[in-house]
Amino acid sequence: MRVKCVICDEIGLLVDDTPLAKKLRNHPINTYMCETCNERITEQTNLRLASGKFIFYRSSHSAEENF
Ligand SMILES: [Zn+2]
Repeated sequence: MRVKCVICDEIGLLVDDTPLAKKLRNHPINTYMCETCNERITEQTNLRLASGKFIFYRSSHSAEENF
């Protein structure tokens, strides 16, 4: 089946009997991402998680200091 990347509109091909293809067919509002975008998103998510932890650590640390 043909799928379109939601981010860069690149058309990709999925083998019909893969779990991902079945999922996309059952849920037409799909979130298919090509490999390039998938990697980019994963990277950004990891960065956000890492910076989130950092901010949380910093803020709780300074609150401790003020107390
Ligand atoms: Zn893409």
